[in-house]
Amino acid sequence: MLETDHSLRALCHMFCILQAEAKIMEDLLDKEYAGITGVPEFTKGAAILAYGADSAPLKEGRVAITQTISGTGALRVGGEFLAKWFPTSKKIFVPTPTWGNHIPIFKDSGLEVNHYKYFDKKTNGLDFEGMVSDIKNAPKGSVILLHACAHNPTGVDPSQAQWDELSKVVMDAGHFAFFDMAYQGFASGSTDKDAYALRKFVKDGHLVALSQSFAKNMGLYGERTGSFSLVTSSAEEKARVDSQIKIVVRPMYSNPPVNGARIVATVLNTPELNAEWLKEVKTMADRIITMRTQLKDHLVKDHKSKLNWDHITNQIGMFCFTGLTPEQVEKMKNEHHVYLTKDGRISVAGISSKNVAYLAKAIHEVTK
Ligand code: PLP
Repeated sequence: MLETDHSLRALCHMFCILQAEAKIMEDLLDKEYAGITGVPEFTKGAAILAYGADSAPLKEGRVAITQTISGTGALRVGGEFLAKWFPTSKKIFVPTPTWGNHIPIFKDSGLEVNHYKYFDKKTNGLDFEGMVSDIKNAPKGSVILLHACAHNPTGVDPSQAQWDELSKVVMDAGHFAFFDMAYQGFASGSTDKDAYALRKFVKDGHLVALSQSFAKNMGLYGERTGSFSLVTSSAEEKARVDSQIKIVVRPMYSNPPVNGARIVATVLNTPELNAEWLKEVKTMADRIITMRTQLKDHLVKDHKSKLNWDHITNQIGMFCFTGLTPEQVEKMKNEHHVYLTKDGRISVAGISSKNVAYLAKAIHEVTK
C-alpha cells in the first residue's frame, strides 16, 4: 500500500481511494468478467454500509443485492424489476422537485411517474404536511421514491422525527418505499446518521428497495459503481428475487464493471482504509457545512441583508436552493458572472474560502 504521502494527498482529495488502487495493483488481479450480480465482496460491504452490521434482514439472509452501473443503473434495474413484478400498482411517486433523471429512468422502466409535494417555496424548506397528504392520498400499494439523505436538488431533508412519521404513513397506506441513497455520508458527515431513514423503515418492518451510489461519497463518478437491493420476507423469497434480478440485468448489460467494485470493496473491507475513508467523508461534509455558514454570515453580517437566509444552513448536502428567482439568476449571470441553474440551485461543493465573499456580494446585489 502507499505510504501516506502529503504531495499525493494534495493531488487527490480521497487518499483512501489511491491507497486502495495501489493495493489492487499489487494483487495483480485479472480482468475476467464478474458474475451477473457483480463482485461479491463489494455487494456484501455495500449492504452492510447501508443497512448496518446489526441489520436483522441482513443477518437473516433476506436481502437480495446486485451490483449496478452506479446509482442510475440501480434505479433502472429497480424500476424494471418493479414494473415486472410489483403486485399492486405500476405507479411510482417522486418528490416535487426531484433529480431530473428520475422521471425518464422510471418512465423507460415501464412505471407511471406521479408526484408528491416536497419543497415549500415560501419557506425554502420542507412542505411536510403536503408530502404526508399526497402520500396518504396515493392509490393503495403505490411505490414511493424517497431520497434517503441530502435531497437533490433542494438540500432539504425530513428530520428524524418526520422520517419516523413517514414510515408509519407509508406503512398505513400500504405503499412500498424505494430509497435512493446517492449521498450516504455527504449530508451529516456520518454514514450511519445518513442511513437513519432507511434503517428506521427496515426496523419498522418495511420491505424496501434501495439504490446506492459510490460516485459522490468515494469520488468514483466515472467508475460507475452502485448497487440495487431489496429486503425480502424470507431467505427463500430472496433466492427467487435474486434469480429475477439476474433476468433483468443479463439482457441489459450482462455483468457490471469490476474496477470500481474492487476499489469500494477494498476500502470497505480493509479496516485502516475504511477508517481513513470515514474521516475523509467527514472532512468533505464539514467543508460543505462551513461554506454554508460562511455564505450566510457574509449575507447577514457583512451585507446586512434584510432577507432570511436561514435555509442556507438548514439545508444539507451538496446542493442549496437559494430561493433566487429566474430573473435574479439571470442577473447573477449577466452582471456578476456567477452561473447557477434557473431554479436557483447552487452546488455548495463549488464554493470555497476564495470565492464565498464574491458569491455573497453577488447574491446580495441581486436580492436587495
Ligand atoms: N440519485 C440522485 C438523487 C442523484 O443526485 C444522482 C446523481 O446526481 C444519482 C442518483 C445517480 O448518480 P450516479 O449514476 O452517478 O451514481
